[in-house]
Amino acid sequence: MSTLTQLEGHDAFIHRHLGVSAAEEAAMCATLKVASRAELVAQTVPAQIRLNAPLAIGAPMREEDALAKIRGYASQNIIKKSLIGLGYYGTHLPTVILRNVLENPGWYTAYTPYQAEIAQGRLEALLNYQQMIIDLTGLELANASLLDEATAAAEAMAMARRISKAASNAFYVDEGVFPQTLDVLKTRAEGFGFTLITGPAMDAAKHDVFGALFQTPNASGELTDFTALIGELKAKGVVTAVACDLLALVLAKAPGEMGADIAFGSAQRFGVPMGFGGPHAAFFATRDEHKRSVPGRIIGVSVDARGKTALRMALQTREQHIRREKANSNICTSQVLLANIAGFYATYHGPEGLKRIASRVHRSAQIFKAALVQHGVSVQNAQFFDTLTIASSDAGSIAARALAAGFNVRVAANAISVSFDETTTRSDLAALLAAFVPGATLDVDAVDAQVATACEFGPARSSAILTHPVFNRYHTEHEMLRYLKRLENKDLALTHSMIPLGSCTMKLNATSEMIPVTWPEFGNIHPFAPADQTRGYELLLNELTEMLKAVTGFAAICMQPNSGAQGEYAGLVAIQRYHASRGEGHRKICLIPKSAHGTNPATAQMLGLSVIVVNCDDNGNVDVEDLKAKIAQHAANLSCLMITYPSTHGVFEEAIKDICALVHAAGGQVYMDGANLNAQVGLTSPATIGADVSHMNLHKTFCIPHGGGGPGMGPIGLAAHLAPFAPNHSVNVVSGPNVGQSAVSAAPYGSASILPISWMYIAMMGGSGLTAATEVALLNANYVATRLSGHYPVLYTGSQGRVAHECIIDIRPIKAACGITEVDIAKRLMDYGFHAPTMSFPVAGTIMIEPTESESKSELDRLIDALIAIRGEIAQVESGALPADNNPLKNAPHTQADVIGEWDRPYSREAAVFPLAWVAAAKYWPSVNRIDDVYGDRNLFCACVPMDEYQA
Ligand SMILES: *Cc1c(COP(=O)(O)O)cnc(C)c1O
Repeated sequence: MSTLTQLEGHDAFIHRHLGVSAAEEAAMCATLKVASRAELVAQTVPAQIRLNAPLAIGAPMREEDALAKIRGYASQNIIKKSLIGLGYYGTHLPTVILRNVLENPGWYTAYTPYQAEIAQGRLEALLNYQQMIIDLTGLELANASLLDEATAAAEAMAMARRISKAASNAFYVDEGVFPQTLDVLKTRAEGFGFTLITGPAMDAAKHDVFGALFQTPNASGELTDFTALIGELKAKGVVTAVACDLLALVLAKAPGEMGADIAFGSAQRFGVPMGFGGPHAAFFATRDEHKRSVPGRIIGVSVDARGKTALRMALQTREQHIRREKANSNICTSQVLLANIAGFYATYHGPEGLKRIASRVHRSAQIFKAALVQHGVSVQNAQFFDTLTIASSDAGSIAARALAAGFNVRVAANAISVSFDETTTRSDLAALLAAFVPGATLDVDAVDAQVATACEFGPARSSAILTHPVFNRYHTEHEMLRYLKRLENKDLALTHSMIPLGSCTMKLNATSEMIPVTWPEFGNIHPFAPADQTRGYELLLNELTEMLKAVTGFAAICMQPNSGAQGEYAGLVAIQRYHASRGEGHRKICLIPKSAHGTNPATAQMLGLSVIVVNCDDNGNVDVEDLKAKIAQHAANLSCLMITYPSTHGVFEEAIKDICALVHAAGGQVYMDGANLNAQVGLTSPATIGADVSHMNLHKTFCIPHGGGGPGMGPIGLAAHLAPFAPNHSVNVVSGPNVGQSAVSAAPYGSASILPISWMYIAMMGGSGLTAATEVALLNANYVATRLSGHYPVLYTGSQGRVAHECIIDIRPIKAACGITEVDIAKRLMDYGFHAPTMSFPVAGTIMIEPTESESKSELDRLIDALIAIRGEIAQVESGALPADNNPLKNAPHTQADVIGEWDRPYSREAAVFPLAWVAAAKYWPSVNRIDDVYGDRNLFCACVPMDEYQA
């Protein structure tokens, strides 16, 4: 019998996370002709950058022990009723959505819907969300979410500059905006070189500006009808953006009805827990004429090859991956899962249910106001929805009494604000009144009977909302449950098969990692709650910070950026602030290798940097001679190099240290895009290779699921000299050398409530497990590359013929020979039950496969066998046995509609839909045929349409 220690070791989480067993690993090493994983790693990772000590992270924890430990942290967060407002409110997530969406891997493990034919479920949910935003804002077009309200404000400002004809370089901001919004606007305005003017909303027209931003209800709860002001500004060519509240808009006049060009805000209170700041979806809507200028993704309606209605992401040519430094914004990962939850909240409640909820919130505020007035306390607001502000020289004592009664209120200079929400009860109103007026009692029914039922928020909305049938048929739990399941069934997620997306690292999102996310002790915490209520978060964040320092080798970590691209932005902000602090603010040249992800140049542009592209050589490495020449040419003005490591070509460049040294010698800084960190952890690190700052996509390397296109987290690690220049936060100041720096995100720790996922992963793997994960990721990628190399050319390998954690296979020779493209292969893989690898990035006409460490040998073999079988199908086209325009690839994906009717194709039905035995055994059916992108963009339509016969 084994010892207790051995038996416990066998339970380790690492054996659940890593896909290959010891026997499989031996077989794979034999295929690769190496004696061991260690030998493969030695052939792959250059010796000069290897770490010489194990990761300083503790021993692996068993799943139940890690859960118990994090439960202990959660229990140190104290849940109070937070009436602080400022964009974060209590809400009830309907449990049918909690369990079947937020806690369901069928929804949360899906990838961004680039392969639309296998993503119709979440695309429909997003279309519903867009329709909801269109209805509530009274505008014509909405995107599918942005990262948070404050960054949406910054995007509105940038968009205003794109569409305004005014010559001014100044932007006006209503002083009533939420303070964190102003904080983020400051950072962005500085980068773009805009002048920010703040003052009373009604003074906007006195200034010469290109755009103006207002908020209603504003930070003190005042609702304003900006119609006249907007009209005046519009006549002067000023673009107007209005920050607004979805629940207020159920009843109140919409920004579109006021004439605004842009409306934005947070969809948090539609069912998404506050989560200490996020993740939540920010919404963004505008007029149809501005559709090409909108930041972020837009879902649109098109048709498939059989003429059936089908959805896909529209107008992608606006985006950073195509337009690079000319893109509308750098946004990539957004908040799909949260947007879908908000949309489902509206679907479940329907227009009448939402009106009841909004009216109840407003009624609570009305009753509370009347009760205060009856006790001689005057309320400042003339018009309000849910938030009341009371002038008081004694705000501190009122807040203390409110706290003792279980409420967080907002204390401002000589004033106190309370925001009511869906969770507010009658007894809350009574208890709160006693805090404001000691000894006062409140008979809610009596006051309710006395107060007029007329609303007190100014003009009501004149337009109907949510009239589309989807918002009017799923109000019972059975109907809703089945609707959610029907949508889920259309989508392919990690619950079906591996998603081998190069650069996106779709590894296991383990159940134990996900469980703490929906604990109330993490969810029901306001981001601006007093520190003594958030001790659990503090302990967790401190520990995660130390873990990420160990992984990256950096001196400091900033948790604020809520996506990778946002991390790039925060990193470049730190670099530019550092240069400016040394009197070198003129350094504005950013070098970026040709192979870089589109977010890199898009981000550089947001800081006003000029992008100079550095060439790559035939092996996919940075062309060092070209780099030297460009550094020499721009040395005096060099800000930084942005570089991905291992490169987006999937190789560990041996010259990386020299490259960083060259940049430093010229006074520049090195920003490392950390998307490929999964190939580094435990073997090398960003600090070791010479980078100064780098982001970590926690939704790639550290197990946060992709959610169908968000949420994510992109904290940055910084070397000591850059740490003082990292973003901080004006409302909830984070201690550190960077106090006083303005923010990049709405919340101090970004999307804090998903950080437990990464903490759990690191805690359960331990330093040794994380290093093993990196090694297995390299093993799996090399296994795929080696097995495929006899069938497809593998582009780019290191000096010893090895790839890093991903490999690129070249489809261009096939296209030249017979016209089959990487798109055809991607669509054909759907017939085999797989999601396509990354297409045409970083090289057009190729596909990039990243298997990750979590896939088993049998799953890898299935993918490889599918690709080999597809190569055989291509050979039939090449030989002329199958016509070039009528074959299983060009007709892919195949649906049930294809195979039930007449069959007149030159290949069999079986070959079409059951090409291999295991495919038939567990068939995943794409719900639509190939979608026509061009048709959809020519006939752009981004609102709800009847989706199928079931709904007719
Ligand atoms: C994913 C990725 C990004 C962007 O990260 P997001 O989290 O989607 O914003 C940037 N660079 C590379 C190489 C990536 O793979």
